[in-house]
Amino acid sequence: MSTATPEVAPCRRCASALEAEDLRCPICGLMTPPRAHGTVERETAKVVRCENCGASVEYSVEAKAPRCDYCGSVTRVETTVDPVEQAQAYLPFTVDPEAARAALMGFLGKGGFFRPSGLAREASVESMRPLWWPAWSFRAGVDVSWTADSDAGARRSDWAPHAGRTRFDFDDIIVPASRGLKVKECEALAPHYRRDTEEREPRGPEGANIERFEATRSGARRTVLETVERLSRERLQQGVIPGRRFRNVHVAVALSSLYTTRLALPVYVLAYRYRDKAYRVLVHGQEAGAVFGEAPISKWRVAAVVAGVLLLVLVALLATGVLGS
Ligand SMILES: [Zn+2]
Ligand SMILES: [Zn+2]
Repeated sequence: MSTATPEVAPCRRCASALEAEDLRCPICGLMTPPRAHGTVERETAKVVRCENCGASVEYSVEAKAPRCDYCGSVTRVETTVDPVEQAQAYLPFTVDPEAARAALMGFLGKGGFFRPSGLAREASVESMRPLWWPAWSFRAGVDVSWTADSDAGARRSDWAPHAGRTRFDFDDIIVPASRGLKVKECEALAPHYRRDTEEREPRGPEGANIERFEATRSGARRTVLETVERLSRERLQQGVIPGRRFRNVHVAVALSSLYTTRLALPVYVLAYRYRDKAYRVLVHGQEAGAVFGEAPISKWRVAAVVAGVLLLVLVALLATGVLGS
């Protein structure tokens, strides 16, 4: 198991939180003091990595099937440099495996018109793996300078120029660090986690793996800045920039504070098979009602709808006399 991350003293100029690998303060740019040898040890870690999606989990001797928890592909054991960057807080599983299985069945049975009618009956669950996926959570204060054109104050022309400066605070921005989940899947799962349940140790079903953090911190910061920029742009257009229509919205953001927590978030990855094809479904680890995934589409039902629409068009054409003679 990886040990806790060593504590790092804050920036000497602005007291912002620093991370072990920072060469400069991310807020004020002050160089960090060189650390004593051995403080940031580049330890190596043994991991199990998927050859298909690249996700890696901690190696364990008792792990039975050498299959990827996310995609079921073949994995190999690999020695890698430990990025000193593992979860600081775990959200516990509050949905148990039976409930997760029931949630999958509910998802398959609920249907929607284009699903095959016997789906819940014929689908066979092939695997169900409880997992923690990695994510950074950020709190950030930003100074935003912006320029934009809007319809406010535009007399005869369509647009008038505006500019301003403002300050935004963002809470709990989740930036996924998972390689096994798609960004879309992470975005679907993220709003359903209850942050007040954070714990220092993982608590969940037996055999649950923890996906490792791997993207570098500088990569994560870049993602945060992009996210902060996007969110600032959205917020500016909800009441900060005068007017109702906008164009050429340009923003420059400067972080004034940044706090990062590395989170491990619980999810069940289920795979089921229906008529020789495998599908993946995610059941949220803290809310059994949050189920996301793939389901087959009934070709017959699609064909029936298409035929029905064609028939209607034909009838309409006949009625208007286009085809009559
Ligand atoms: Zn600083
Ligand atoms: Zn995989």
